[in-house]
Amino acid sequence: MFEELMKTLRSLESRTVSVPIKADAKGYMDMQCPAKACEFLCKVNEEDWKNICKDESVWCPMCRHEAPPNQWFSIAQVEHAQKEAISMLQGEINQAMRSDASIFNRQQPRGGLISMSMEVKGGSHRTYVLPAPAAEAMQLEIQCEACAARFAVIGSAYFCPACGFNSVKRTFADSLRKIRAKKDGEDAVRTALSEVIGKDEAELTCRSLRESCLTDGIAAFQKYCEGLYEPFGSAPMNSFQRIDDGNDLWRRALGAGYYDWLSSPEARDLMILYQKRHLLAHQEGIVDERYLQKSEDTTYKLSQRIVISRADIDVLLKLLEKLSIALSENCGRA
Ligand SMILES: [Zn+2]
Ligand SMILES: [Zn+2]
Repeated sequence: MFEELMKTLRSLESRTVSVPIKADAKGYMDMQCPAKACEFLCKVNEEDWKNICKDESVWCPMCRHEAPPNQWFSIAQVEHAQKEAISMLQGEINQAMRSDASIFNRQQPRGGLISMSMEVKGGSHRTYVLPAPAAEAMQLEIQCEACAARFAVIGSAYFCPACGFNSVKRTFADSLRKIRAKKDGEDAVRTALSEVIGKDEAELTCRSLRESCLTDGIAAFQKYCEGLYEPFGSAPMNSFQRIDDGNDLWRRALGAGYYDWLSSPEARDLMILYQKRHLLAHQEGIVDERYLQKSEDTTYKLSQRIVISRADIDVLLKLLEKLSIALSENCGRA
């Protein structure tokens, strides 16, 4: 009795169950960063996963955590696989018990005084696994400039999962997108916050959000310049945070700088914005002598508090974009 069941149970000791993973409609497979603090969910093209990603390492597009390929299953895939494995084994046990029962029933003598029969009820009958379904396709598809691997994310990403490459150009474009989203979302944020924390606090938050657009934009451009400047040597620390120093470095490296690519009014606007960032970072936004002298901004007097308007952010984005294009073209020729 129970021979089939015992055989099945013994076979479980050395058993592995493999659960296939499905790609989404666009041919991308889910992957999730195994770093607990990150757990960034993204997708990589199925073909590129096989052909371009390395056997030793895969990188997280968000935090650049590096781990072997077998650690990138998504939490949903792992949960699905566990459920499927248990269901399949339950099915096999159930089937073994059914077959034991049918042998037992066949072996019963007929026509006796007492008749015995065995019946196995309930349990799962499925003895195969269903593949893990893919999460919904993601809008933002990216192709790595270095290795050509294709991957997809929600929001933004900094690193290629197949080679870890960080594209300064894409990172900069993403930063400008984030700043634009912050600026355009201001009214919605104000309305939503007014109801929860009141008008005064909502206004304060929106002002801080707008000011952060200015500091974010200049920081993003600094990073972009540092990345592009790498082939020309190492620039002194934070030189790209100062417009004149950055201009001098580019003039020496490329023979042209910011003031060759911007008109005089544009250069003046950019200088004012850079000096405003300096005030926000170091003087709580209060106008000092240095600001008046360097920016030549006549709209403020000493000790006033500067105001960052949405128009300022529009001007900043336009000028940084213009400079980034000129830099990219000139570096490409250098
Ligand atoms: Zn990560
Ligand atoms: Zn790559």
